Amino acid sequence: MDWDVVIGLEVHAELNTNSKVFCSCKNEYGSAPNTNCCPVCIGLPGALPVLNKQAVKYTIKAGLALGCNINDIAIMERKNYFYPDLSKAYQISQLVKPICLNGGIKLSNGKFVRLNRIHLEEDAGKLIHNENIGSLIDYNRGGVPLIEIVTEPDISSADEAVEFVTKLRNTLIYTGVAQCKMEEGGMRCDVNLSIKPKGSETFGTRTEMKNLNSFKMIERAIKVETERQIDLIEGGGKVVQETRRWDDVNEETVAMRSKETSQDYRYFPDPDILAVTISRQDVEDIRKTLPLLPEQLKDKFVNEYNLPEYDADVIIKDKEISTFYLKCVELLNEPKQISNWLMTNVLAKLKDDTLQITPKQLTDIISLVLNRKISKQNGVELFELIWGTTDDALKIATNKKMINDMSADELYKIIDEILVNNPQVIPQYKTEPDKILNFLTGQTMRQTKGKADSKLVREYLINKLK
Ligand code: ADP
Ligand code: MG
Ligand code: ZN
Repeated sequence: MDWDVVIGLEVHAELNTNSKVFCSCKNEYGSAPNTNCCPVCIGLPGALPVLNKQAVKYTIKAGLALGCNINDIAIMERKNYFYPDLSKAYQISQLVKPICLNGGIKLSNGKFVRLNRIHLEEDAGKLIHNENIGSLIDYNRGGVPLIEIVTEPDISSADEAVEFVTKLRNTLIYTGVAQCKMEEGGMRCDVNLSIKPKGSETFGTRTEMKNLNSFKMIERAIKVETERQIDLIEGGGKVVQETRRWDDVNEETVAMRSKETSQDYRYFPDPDILAVTISRQDVEDIRKTLPLLPEQLKDKFVNEYNLPEYDADVIIKDKEISTFYLKCVELLNEPKQISNWLMTNVLAKLKDDTLQITPKQLTDIISLVLNRKISKQNGVELFELIWGTTDDALKIATNKKMINDMSADELYKIIDEILVNNPQVIPQYKTEPDKILNFLTGQTMRQTKGKADSKLVREYLINKLK
């Protein structure tokens, strides 16, 4: 039997605010354990929360970037449950009136994955399980603002899920509201998955896999859970609605607990936090702060800069790269040349290094090459030398004697000499012109220590040998 896979995602992203969402403690990753805590975020009785305006603004900004409608009134609610990483015994979240509704993301196959909502809530602390000491708790993360982005069950494969999360992550990073460092838990994904007979309209029972924090995990967990459900149903069994954990070592999903519903949490509006009114003026003011988003940048690159779509796609994938690229084009109006250097030389470096060249350094090198002040080979050499330094391109080129200060006549003289010293090439040129041209150009480049303009050399040789 053929099966359809039905997937809905709940993605959590930590907001990039200075302080936590209901107190003034620092929102900072990597501080010494339990140093960014206060009575509010560890939930001492009687402590009163305040609401971080920046967190609300960032949630609205994320919503606008993802095409959501912004509610006029948003309500913070208590979601009650006990767990050691949540010392208040409730999480402040949103249920009936989240900040953002609807919106969505378009995938490359044309499918529009609808969002159900984006709501604001607080993160819990972190449990660290240590074999020797036991379990430790770090409450620094407790109270860090989180947005939860909930999709409709519109996703049908691991590939679509990965593309969706990639685009979502990139959009959030571009807007600046979240850094989405998956390896630091700054972005985590819950996968809800069910299967149904191919073409059937009725959804099957779903399971939920919690806290997948890499693309690889999302992809593997979807594949493995799909197989498990198919085997189960085809073997005459039934899928139980439950929360499962992804075991990355054994590559399997493991039952954790039966699925709780929103009823189980006894949500109610937090009496300590007033309903948030969001004026249309606020929304428009925030909309004005949106930068160009990846797809809009792509349009700009293709239509204004005449870049091939391929180049544009590569450059928009990373905000740091596209920002760097935009600065380069501001300095030197050669969009395609810059894109070539970026995609070959710069991206090769970034495979195992951080960006260590300035837009000015790169565009200076490109100008030197385009103006035939240095050869392309020396340009590449110069690029290697300048990487990681604050040096000036022209200065290094001059010091390393890369500047082509030969007149054309001087160059032709050198070539003539090479021809005199290699008389055997003249008859050979008739049968193997390419080989001989390459040989003679190589000789000339060696004689001139790489300075000569190889294009000029070839032109002269072709003329001379015909
Ligand atoms: P809950 O409140 O129990 O978490 P929601 O209605 O909020 O349930 O849905 C949670 C997620 O599960 C959403 O992303 C939704 O798209 C997805 N989902 C709902 N039903 C199914 C299903 N049958 N199969 C797969 N995903 C589903
Ligand atoms: Mg839910
Ligand atoms: Zn605090």
